[in-house]
Amino acid sequence: MVDEVASEQGFLTPTGEPVNLAATLFFETPEEIFRRVHREIRPRSPLPPIAVEFKQFANADSHVRLAEGRIEVRITDLLEGAPAPVTEALAHILLGKLYRRPAEKQFNHRYRLYLNRKDMRRRIGLVRQARGRKVHTGPEGSEHHLEEVFEELNARHFGGMMARPALGWSHSRSRTRLGHFDPSHNMIMISRVFDDPRTPRLALEYVMFHEMLHLQYPVDHRGSRRCVHTPEFKAHEKLFPQFREARALLKKLPI
Ligand SMILES: [Zn+2]
Repeated sequence: MVDEVASEQGFLTPTGEPVNLAATLFFETPEEIFRRVHREIRPRSPLPPIAVEFKQFANADSHVRLAEGRIEVRITDLLEGAPAPVTEALAHILLGKLYRRPAEKQFNHRYRLYLNRKDMRRRIGLVRQARGRKVHTGPEGSEHHLEEVFEELNARHFGGMMARPALGWSHSRSRTRLGHFDPSHNMIMISRVFDDPRTPRLALEYVMFHEMLHLQYPVDHRGSRRCVHTPEFKAHEKLFPQFREARALLKKLPI
């Protein structure tokens, strides 16, 4: 019965995971779901007023805060109309954050499984594309032109066959996010830290090569797992000449 209801809503239940009957059999508003979950996880405390709002964020994030004794929940509008078990899982996750008591594994799993569905990934990608702010500048740096670097590597390692995506330098000299391929914008972003005469070009070339491999090897989605660096990806990456030397350089980037 539970499974029938769940699958009618298009929600897949991983085998063995109990789905709360109350969440699937009755139509609860998101506020009611949050109130019920609050009572479940804090049975002894008085129930504060809870307000739930759906907002247009540039990503699939949701937020919770306690303001003047009131719990304010802001959920991405991507989850407006999500099946009740998903809203229930999100309630466990957000209230767990608020009270610093992490939600049970099953709720994280259920929530991630939903966001990882093909149709959801597509919608998230479209929303990012339409609403996201640009955090990069163009390909021309003061030391290196990213299009030149890309085409050089393209000729050397990909037979010149790779279609060039948009390329840009990040605004900040991030040393934690050295490069990034964003499939929704078809764009490679490289940290400004490499546009520096003190940074050897080899380091920049290696990071660019790594991001180019992301173009060649799409992310492998299996269930709730997201494998970005597949075994094929890693094997290909090791073919980069001076692989070890380049990786060692990344640990000595100038500040
Ligand atoms: Zn990567």
